[in-house]
Amino acid sequence: MKRNILIIGGGGVARVVAHKCAQNNAVLGDIHIASRTLAKCQAIIESVHEKGSLQRAGTLQAHALDAMDIEATKFLIRATRSQIVINVGSPFLNMSVLAACIETGAAYLDTAIHEDPDKVCEAPPWYGNYEWKRRQACKDARVTAVLGVGFDPGVVNAYARYAMDTHFDSVESIDIIDINAGSHGRYFATNFDPEINFREFVSTAWSWEDNAWKANAMFEHRKDWDMPVTGLSTTYLTGHDELHSMSKNLGVPNIRFWMGFSDHYINVFTVLKNLGLLSEQPVRTARGQEIVPLEVIKAVLPDPASLAPDYTGKTCIGDLIKGHKNGQPQEVLIYNVCDHKTCFEEVGSQAISYTAGVPVVAAAMLIADGTWDIGEMANVEELDPVPFIALMNRMGLVTRIRDAQGDRVVEPEQEEVDTLASSQLLQYG
Ligand code: NDP
Repeated sequence: MKRNILIIGGGGVARVVAHKCAQNNAVLGDIHIASRTLAKCQAIIESVHEKGSLQRAGTLQAHALDAMDIEATKFLIRATRSQIVINVGSPFLNMSVLAACIETGAAYLDTAIHEDPDKVCEAPPWYGNYEWKRRQACKDARVTAVLGVGFDPGVVNAYARYAMDTHFDSVESIDIIDINAGSHGRYFATNFDPEINFREFVSTAWSWEDNAWKANAMFEHRKDWDMPVTGLSTTYLTGHDELHSMSKNLGVPNIRFWMGFSDHYINVFTVLKNLGLLSEQPVRTARGQEIVPLEVIKAVLPDPASLAPDYTGKTCIGDLIKGHKNGQPQEVLIYNVCDHKTCFEEVGSQAISYTAGVPVVAAAMLIADGTWDIGEMANVEELDPVPFIALMNRMGLVTRIRDAQGDRVVEPEQEEVDTLASSQLLQYG
């Protein structure tokens, strides 16, 4: 049993994580929130109290922390007696927070791959450049580290694993499709950190084709999908975190990521990029000031968390998987639909933050009760997806499947949860 949570970050996802931890504090214990700006953590705590999210009376405390400072992070982990750290700060923090966890023995969770502020779109597989280099260190210290356990990456990795285990003998392709059919009413905004959002799209869009990495240009490949609820949805082939672990762990020859973009987003993005305003490299102004254009764009765009009150519409994110079962061709869409307004009413955040925040808390609960406390590093598709999907169904993210038999809720059997080995990595391919 592990108890007491340290949440790192004070943004939109951290807000969801704080509410969901509070709703489950009988299992999770004390909750501490630490970020660079103390006021953001305090505002989250106020909102947890306002919504009455605490399952029972307990510790809920804010701290100021620069999580790039490993010693300060270690000190806070120890001072708060936190045995699980949920890192939902900027992806620049992953390696320092992971180091602090390895040195204190706390379990580590995040929702995005590590990034170096000075580099964009490094050579694939991205996990090999940073996180996987600490795999042995986690094993030696018996530290559980679950990487990328938001929605995408995260739930979509578990969906692939679950569908492969239950619906296929062999799989030829996995297309991950991410549609946000919501509207925030602003001229232009990104749904999570603009700096991270743009960094995803300024360079090569890597896809996994015929068991090899393929370099594509951003917005080079367009595809329309008939999705549940959101209907006919336009997407573009995009590079994304989960391809960089699923390609290694699942033995599937083709894995692609498709993200929905409006024409308006593409126009604004293209203008900013062509003007050089999306560059991560510093420029010097006439007054001698050195500035990073991308950081300026982030500073002038709306804070993603501020979009929540006016957001309407739904997201639909899932995996379209093609392969064979009993010698017959098989096609399955496994997905979730989430409503922006419902999320706001429950926790004060929009659906993009909600779909990222709920899974990482579900994962923390599985570590707390031992089910996923494996004492080493893993990507989500390496772990048993059954308890994870079953728990999220009860926490506000319901999984559905659409296939030749129709469209229905996925309810992983309780017996499956009990019979699968609870504390070992499941190996594939
Ligand atoms: P925000 O930008 O809203 O929040 C990031 C937070 O990190 C801010 O509170 C920021 O503090 C804090 N932070 C930055 N640097 C430091 C530091 N050195 N020390 C301490 N705190 C720091 O991001 P989101 O909440 O939208 O996203 C959080 C994470 O979730 C990101 O990694 C994002 O990529 C990921 N994500 C994952 C998704 C998924 O499905 N897998 C979907 C959406 C997001 P300050 O405000 O003071 O700058």
